[in-house]
Amino acid sequence: MAGESQADCLFCKIVAGDVPATVVRESETTLAFRDINPQAPTHVLVIPKAHYPDAASLAAGAPELAADVLREAGEVAAQEKIAAEEGVPSKGYRIVFNTGAGAGQTVWHAHAHVLGGRGLNWPPG
Ligand code: 5GP
Ligand code: ZN
Repeated sequence: MAGESQADCLFCKIVAGDVPATVVRESETTLAFRDINPQAPTHVLVIPKAHYPDAASLAAGAPELAADVLREAGEVAAQEKIAAEEGVPSKGYRIVFNTGAGAGQTVWHAHAHVLGGRGLNWPPG
């Protein structure tokens, strides 16, 4: 059933504490932890504790939870001091939801990548 923990899901295991992670923030409904293979000086994943396979199914099935994830992504950026500052070109951050294997999704539990701490190119690869 949508939202239920999946036994074979890596991020459900992190939520359950069965796989360790470096947690930077936690709310009742979300967890934020450092990516094991960081692509920028700050690279944090924000996930809903409930299992949805990707961002679109999360937004369709639990819109308030999707909003929680986005709000927590902003809180992570503030906490990590990567949020935009006037006149500081290395500040500002990106929230990314890779969706589908062709776009680089490898874990089928919705997650926002929060990336920053360096200048970020646009368009991304
Ligand atoms: P995706 O490729 O699905 O957009 O993102 C999955 C992310 O999860 C990748 O950036 C990958 O480095 C990260 N990741 C994979 N396994 C683990 C793990 O065991 N712990 C943590 N903290 N991150 C992981
Ligand atoms: Zn899961």
